[in-house]
Amino acid sequence: MSFDSNYTMTIDGRATLSSESMDVLNPATEECIARVPDASLDQLNDAVAAARRAQASWAALPLARRQHSLDAMADLLASHTDDFMRLLTREQGKPHADAKAEVGRCVHWLREYAKRTLPVSRHDDGAGHLFETHHVPIGVVAAIAPWNFPMTLAIWKVAPALLAGNTVVLKPSPFTPLTSLKMGELFRDVLPPGVLNVVSGSDRLGPWLTEHPGIDKIGFTGSTATGRRVMQSASSRLKRITLELGGNDAAIVLPDVDVAQTARALFWGAFRNSSQYCLATKRMYVHESIYDDFSRELVAYARTVEMGNGAAPGVGLGPIQNRMQYERVKDLIADAHRTGVKFLLGGSVPEGKGYFIPVCILDNPPDDSRSVIEEAFGPVLPLLKYRDIDEVVRRANDSDYGLGGSVWSRDQNLAYEIAGRLQTGMVWVNHIHVMSPNAPFGGQKQSGIGVENAMEGLQEYTNVQTRVTLIN
Ligand code: NAD
Repeated sequence: MSFDSNYTMTIDGRATLSSESMDVLNPATEECIARVPDASLDQLNDAVAAARRAQASWAALPLARRQHSLDAMADLLASHTDDFMRLLTREQGKPHADAKAEVGRCVHWLREYAKRTLPVSRHDDGAGHLFETHHVPIGVVAAIAPWNFPMTLAIWKVAPALLAGNTVVLKPSPFTPLTSLKMGELFRDVLPPGVLNVVSGSDRLGPWLTEHPGIDKIGFTGSTATGRRVMQSASSRLKRITLELGGNDAAIVLPDVDVAQTARALFWGAFRNSSQYCLATKRMYVHESIYDDFSRELVAYARTVEMGNGAAPGVGLGPIQNRMQYERVKDLIADAHRTGVKFLLGGSVPEGKGYFIPVCILDNPPDDSRSVIEEAFGPVLPLLKYRDIDEVVRRANDSDYGLGGSVWSRDQNLAYEIAGRLQTGMVWVNHIHVMSPNAPFGGQKQSGIGVENAMEGLQEYTNVQTRVTLIN
């Protein structure tokens, strides 16, 4: 299989092209690296119809057969790790090391889902009735992924959906369709036709998919604004939804930390994937007594990290993934300049090819500045001073978002207690960004509805059915 050309959609197990196509750019060079099909409405209808036809027989297979298919998908991905790594870097921009980690994560998640069974609970009411609760498939799932972690966030939906006995129509972002199309091509060998359909397309495709009457459940990761539109589309037929949306995560650094070590860990917490990370630290609250030391360490470490084409050795940070986001982040920087915010680092954007924005660290901007309130989704970090714990917890929670956060202190118990006061779905103590397929992840407030991963995430791809029988 070539990873450099011939990108086809997978509809009913067959390679499918379209009369229309779209360009895919490498964000590090702005060169067109591929043309991919721009699905028509008829083709989407075909994909949904194929998924509907395949669903009953897929669900009727013994669970062990579906588990085996997930393992086979993991094997195929693992055996093409370097191909996917290179392709992911070319379409998304992230450094090879991060791309390889992403492929590895997909393999790991598939293998962990392949071990899962769905629980059946039983209850005898003492009056001659046995209540037996099963988790049954919902039907056809639309899986919609964004461009920051195109592979991970596709697999996080596809794996539980398939294991639970649903069939899937996967739609990648138009900015990063290549890895999803190649996964679809690869998995044709181990999945029956129609079980996993992969369609690529322009902006019209997402709404067509979420409004489609043949879709029963939508697993969506993307921005909060789009999440609202998805929820609206789902409402007409009460489709089930899981929405993983934006975040504005706070890190709270207490005065007793090892400053150099914490600054280094939080540099990556804020800037990995060039901050295009829903769970990136987007507000860094540092106690006033160590603020100056901490900012010096953070800036000094930032200067050691190389930004460039993710395919080049030694590069730690790649470009912004697309022009729209690049312009948005530049506008945020311009706003900081306009409003007189001091830059501890960065603040200008180089001319030339590629959507590169050097790391910007802002010196204690006001709480009501755009850089503090908005999800930057790019390397613009406000470093903020605080004085006491109640104050910083209130400021951290003063956000429409509630996705993640972290607390840093030598006093583990105190940090743990503060972590519990954050209104977020995920919070780390003295480290950051460790995720597990066995721990649920989801957002509070406007960061989402429902969770992914673990048994809770798997159950979101099921309906509950309670069967009541008579006990003789
Ligand atoms: P986006 O909302 O623009 O797009 C996400 C996906 O939705 C894409 O595939 C897009 O084509 C599709 N889409 C767009 N409009 C649609 C519509 N009306 N109906 C259906 N689908 C539609 O998001 P993005 O810019 O690709 O990703 C960045 C955002 O994703 C950030 O806000 C980030 O925080 C969030 N995100 C959240 C998580 C999480 O797990 N909570 C993880 C990663 C990214």
